[in-house]
Amino acid sequence: MIKNTFQIKYTVKCKNPEAHLFEVSCSISKPNPEGQTLSLPNWIPGSYMIRDFARNITEIRAENDSGNLNLKKINKNTWLCEKSSSEIIIHYSVYAFDLSVRSAHLDTSHAFFNGTSLFLMVQGYEDMPCSVELIKPEKPYYKNWQVATTLASSSSDNYDFGLYHAPNYDELIDHPVEMGEFTVIKFKPNNIEHEMVITGRHCTDQTLLAEQLTKICNTHIELFGEFPDINRYLFLTMVVSNGYGGLEHRASTSLVCSRKDLINTNKLEITKEYRQFLALCSHEYFHTWNVKRIKPAAYLPYNLDSEVYTQQLWAFEGITSYYDELALARSGVISTESYLELLSQTITRVLRQYGRFTQSVADSSFDAWTKFYKQDENAPNAIVSYYTKGTLIALSLDLTIRLKTNNTLSLDNIMKHLWLEYGKKNIGLKETEIEEIISKLTDIDFTSFFNQYLYGTEDLPLKELFKHAGIDIHFRAAESQTDLGGKQVKTDSINKVSLGIRTKSSNSRAIIQQVLNHSCAQLAGLSAGDELVSFDGLKITNSNLNSLLSEFQPNDKIEICVFRRDELLKLEVCLQSPDLDTCVLSINSNASDEQKKFRSKWLHL
Ligand code: ZN
Repeated sequence: MIKNTFQIKYTVKCKNPEAHLFEVSCSISKPNPEGQTLSLPNWIPGSYMIRDFARNITEIRAENDSGNLNLKKINKNTWLCEKSSSEIIIHYSVYAFDLSVRSAHLDTSHAFFNGTSLFLMVQGYEDMPCSVELIKPEKPYYKNWQVATTLASSSSDNYDFGLYHAPNYDELIDHPVEMGEFTVIKFKPNNIEHEMVITGRHCTDQTLLAEQLTKICNTHIELFGEFPDINRYLFLTMVVSNGYGGLEHRASTSLVCSRKDLINTNKLEITKEYRQFLALCSHEYFHTWNVKRIKPAAYLPYNLDSEVYTQQLWAFEGITSYYDELALARSGVISTESYLELLSQTITRVLRQYGRFTQSVADSSFDAWTKFYKQDENAPNAIVSYYTKGTLIALSLDLTIRLKTNNTLSLDNIMKHLWLEYGKKNIGLKETEIEEIISKLTDIDFTSFFNQYLYGTEDLPLKELFKHAGIDIHFRAAESQTDLGGKQVKTDSINKVSLGIRTKSSNSRAIIQQVLNHSCAQLAGLSAGDELVSFDGLKITNSNLNSLLSEFQPNDKIEICVFRRDELLKLEVCLQSPDLDTCVLSINSNASDEQKKFRSKWLHL
């Protein structure tokens, strides 16, 4: 039995999985003699939105050895416990019913939580070590439950309930915990213990998955030259019928994926869904260096009470997004053609964000809290994604550095430098520091590059850059709403006109979700929320809109009827040519040896 000598001790009990309630306690052996303040974070690092986790605390009380103590709520996430000269214990219940990677979920099938949802921060003790006792649910039904987390365990078995500990609060909340029955897949990139823990019904080729993740992880480790100082890494994967998402942590990642992403596959063909899942794993793994350790100075330390602003997310999410797919190609898990398809789709996504002419990537990063994370029907007109355009900035930087240094330097060198000089030394990056480092290390002046593409709203010079890698870039109109680019299609399958709207299906009716700026739909007065009724006298459904449009030419004037709320409106729309907002990249079969060499060096062929 290990003696629990920590001054801050938490216990977590899956008290009532049927009611989705965790019972948590927090003991403070030497509370502040003036009264102890406690708070719960309002947001979780990696997901830049105020989520007010404290709203899920349903009951809370405090006691010491003499009885109950007064616990006064000061604001939405902070409490003050009355003075006590002896140990105080705070008891509280947390409602957990968010099946996402960002908070907590508890039901009879499993339990998952982030520390930001469960652990009150004891003010004044943030830097002190603490313990967590995870208590197994009592009913026999849960007898096979185990624990998966990278919190340090006091037991010899990694999957036991019992005592865990963390050196400080910052670490305590950065090791998510999964409890339940799960599959464990073990693999060892660079001789370090890695596991994928899968919860939920699935049918995956475990050997193949381990093999491919090993290659991807090794590619990232090779880029940075070493793995951070941790002895175990966990991919915590929750399989659901339909879902997608991930959140990075210092020694693990939480992922949600759809069952179809993990189907049995064979080595000859990787499905698009499986490829996307591997890219997600790759993305979160790259974050182990980039954002978990190489990070903005503004995050050192995190202020978890309110928004923390930075213009640097292009580097932390954009560069990470660039390398997540690049690593699939470099590791040989996907072909060059498959990689170019993924890259084409990223370019397509950027081209369909008309907000890129209004908002810069730097501003998108700064306003992530209120814009990127709170997207509404006007999002395509108003915002640009620091993920996707950030990827293109990273790609353009990489190709430019390679080009101007005769392929002796690349973005890889920058990342390695950022790791060695900042991440590894726990030094935060000031707001424009990465830009200065890139110019300094490469001896290339990138001032106008960043002014145009990061702080300005110009499109990146991709055509010119791809030329040096022997890659052709082609733009065409979309074949349908589900056409994401990356593939050539027959010219006659593309309509000559487009309305400039995006629709969703509701009981087979077509409801307008978004109306693009300057589109003929906007000029005609169509609005998000309108239900499309008829087009040139014929009934519109969500599936026939494309074929209805196929009969017409630009400048044709057509009557459209819509229901706006419950009122029928007749509008006249003057049809326009579609935008060439769909990208297809392909290998130039006539590329010179020099171009081929450039491509090989870039993609590690
Ligand atoms: Zn990310």
